[in-house]
Amino acid sequence: MNDTKIIDGKLISSQIREKIRFYGDKLKDKTNKTPGLAVVLVGENPASKVYVKNKIEKTKEVGFNSIEHRLDESVSERELLSLVNDLNNDEKVQGILVQLPLPKHINSDKVLDAIIPIKDVDGFHAENVGKLWSGLNSLVPCTPLGCSILLKKINQDLSGKSAVIIGRSNIVGKPMAALLLGMNATVTIAHSRTKNIRELVKESDILIAAVGIAEMVKGDWIKKGCIVIDVGINRIERNGKNVLVGDVDYQECLKNASRITPVPGGVGPMTIACLLLNTLFTSYIQFGEESVDLTSILD
Ligand code: NAD
Repeated sequence: MNDTKIIDGKLISSQIREKIRFYGDKLKDKTNKTPGLAVVLVGENPASKVYVKNKIEKTKEVGFNSIEHRLDESVSERELLSLVNDLNNDEKVQGILVQLPLPKHINSDKVLDAIIPIKDVDGFHAENVGKLWSGLNSLVPCTPLGCSILLKKINQDLSGKSAVIIGRSNIVGKPMAALLLGMNATVTIAHSRTKNIRELVKESDILIAAVGIAEMVKGDWIKKGCIVIDVGINRIERNGKNVLVGDVDYQECLKNASRITPVPGGVGPMTIACLLLNTLFTSYIQFGEESVDLTSILD
C-alpha cells in the first residue's frame, strides 16, 4: 500500500529525459546544430563534484554537447566573470551553469547576474526571477520546477489547497512559492525565524521541505492526506554507514502523507531533468525555431 504513496522521481525524470532526447534530435535534424550546456565548477567541494558529474553524464545521454570548465579554488572573480562573458558569446553554448557554492572571495550574485538571461538555465538571473514572479515565460530554477512537475503529475488542480514551504532560499524556497501561486495554491513560506512551523505544517495540504536539516519534519506534524515533497539532501551516519536522508522523517511521515517523495530518488533526479529541459527550451529559441511545447514533454 505504501508503494502507491511514493512519488517515483527517478522514473518520472527518466521519462522526461527520453522526451528531451526525442525533441533534441528533432531540433538537431532541423537546424544541424546541437544544444550545448556549459558547466563551470570552481574548487573541490565533494558534493558539487558529484552533482556536476551527474549533470554532465545526463547531458551527454540526451545527446547534447557538454562543455566543462574546472577552475582552481583560487580563481579570481574577474577571471570567472571573463569566462562567463566568453560563454555568453559562444555560439556552441546555449546554457550556462555555474555550480554553487562558490568560494567566499567570489560574489555569487555578481557571477549569476553576468550570465545572459537567455542562457541562464538555472533561472537565477534577476530578469528571469522577475519574469517568474510576474507570471511571464522564463527560465525557472530547476529544483522547484522539478517539484512543480511532480505535483502536476499527481494532482492537476491545486486550487483551494494550502501549501507550506520550509526554506526561503533563492534556489528553492522563493521560486517554489511563485510556482505554487501560479498553480493557484495558497502559499506560506516558513524559515529559520518562523516560530510555529509545526502548526503551519499540520494545517497544510502540501508540504515542500527545503531546509537542509536531516529529518527535521516529524511524522506527527503531517496532516492526514498531505502531499510531501522533500527537497533536502543530508548526509548522515546511521548504523555505521553513510546514508542520504531528506528534511522529513520519511518512515514516520509516510503514515499520514497521501503521496511522498523519497530521498534519494525523488526530487534530486528531477532537478537534472529540468536543467536539460531548460537547455532544450532555450536552444529552440536560440536556434530560431518555434518554441517546443513543454506540455507534450510533461504529459
Ligand atoms: P539554504 O541553506 O540556502 O536555505 C535553507 C533555508 O532553510 C533558509 O531559507 C533558512 O531560513 C531555512 N531554515 C534553516 N534552519 C531552519 C529551521 N530550523 N527552521 C526553519 N527553516 C530553517 O538551502 P537550499 O539551497 O534552499 O537547500 C535546502 C536543502 O535542499 C538542502 O538540504 C539542499 O542540499 C537541498 N537541495 C536539494 C536539491 C535537489 O536537487 N534535491 C537542490 C537544491 C537544494
